[in-house]
Amino acid sequence: MIVPQLLKVTDGLYYFESRTVSPFAVSGVYLIVRGEVVLIEAGTSISVPHLLKAIEGLGIDPERITTLIPTHVHLDHAGGAGWLVEKLPHLKVWVHNRGLRHLADPSRLIKSAEVLYGTRENIARLHGEILPIPGDNLVGIEDGFIHLADGSSLQTLDTPGHAPHHLTIFDPVSKSLFCGEALVHYLPESRLLYPAVAPPGFDLEISRATIEKLRTVNPARICFSQFGWRDDPEWVFSEIYRQLDFYARLVKSGLDQGLDVEEIRDRLKGTRIGLRSTLTQTTLRLGDVLSLQPGDVIPVDLPEQVMVDAASTSVFSARIGTSRNRNAVEIIAPTKSTLPVNQN
Ligand SMILES: [Zn+2]
Repeated sequence: MIVPQLLKVTDGLYYFESRTVSPFAVSGVYLIVRGEVVLIEAGTSISVPHLLKAIEGLGIDPERITTLIPTHVHLDHAGGAGWLVEKLPHLKVWVHNRGLRHLADPSRLIKSAEVLYGTRENIARLHGEILPIPGDNLVGIEDGFIHLADGSSLQTLDTPGHAPHHLTIFDPVSKSLFCGEALVHYLPESRLLYPAVAPPGFDLEISRATIEKLRTVNPARICFSQFGWRDDPEWVFSEIYRQLDFYARLVKSGLDQGLDVEEIRDRLKGTRIGLRSTLTQTTLRLGDVLSLQPGDVIPVDLPEQVMVDAASTSVFSARIGTSRNRNAVEIIAPTKSTLPVNQN
C-alpha cells in the first residue's frame, strides 16, 4: 500500500486514494460531506466498491451520497459511475454537456480507449465493467452552480484543454478547487508535478486559457484527481506555466528541425530531470526514470523539495516517493529494467 486509502483534507472534505485498490494509477475521489455527500470523480468499477466501504468506515451511510461530479468522462475518472448509479439509484451525476451522451452510452468511450489499452480485455482488467447511466440520473452543466441541500453551492467551470468536456469544481466553503486533470498531475509521495497531456484531446493553447481562468478563482487549495492536494496554489500555478513552456519549446524546436514523433519522444526521454534537495542536486535522464524498479533507491540529501524539472506524462511512468530513509528517494511503482542513475 502506498498511502492510506481515506485521508482527511479539512473539516468535511476527504480524499480517497484509489491507487491503493486498483491495478493502475486511477483517479482519486474527493468526498464533500455536508449533510449529504458529494463525490468529485468516481474512479472505476474496481475501485468504487472499496470507496463505498471506506465511506462506511467513516460512519457514513452511502445512501447519503446524492451527487457525483466526474470532472470528465475518461474511464479512470467516470468509468465506475454506472456501477455507482446501479447501487445508488437516486444518485445525480453532473457532467459536462459534451460528455453526457458518453455516460449514457459508453460504447464510443470504450472504443476510443481501445486505442490506448489495445484490447477490450485489457480495458476490462484495468477498469472493470463500464455500465451505461440512465438518462434520469444524468444532468448536463458547463459554467454554472450546483446547489446543495444545506444552502451552499458548488461552482462548476468549463475547463477544456486536457479534454474538450472537462469541468473543474470550486467549493467556496473550503475554498478548494477540484481541477481533475485541467492543471497537472501531482505525486504527493515526492511532491512532483508534471503535465497532464493525454491523447488525443490535449490542446496547449486552450489549456493555457483554462489555467488562467482557474487562477482567477483564487483558491486556497488545489485538489488534484491524480493525486492528492496542495495548499500553495501560487507555487502550483507558477510551476505549471514553467513546465508547459518548457515542453512546448522542446516539442516545437523538434518540429522546426523536422524531427518525427519518435525522435521528439526520444529527445523528451533524454531530457534531464532534476531531483533537487536542499543540499544536493541529482539529475536523471528522463528515459532512465522509465527503467526504475520497485525498491531502487536514488540517494539525495534531505528530499524535502523533490521536483521534476522536465517530464512528460507519456514517458514519465515511474513514481518516486520519499523513502522512510530520509536520505533517499525510493522507487515504489513498477516500471521496466534496471537503474542507470546519472549523477553530476
Ligand atoms: Zn483524463
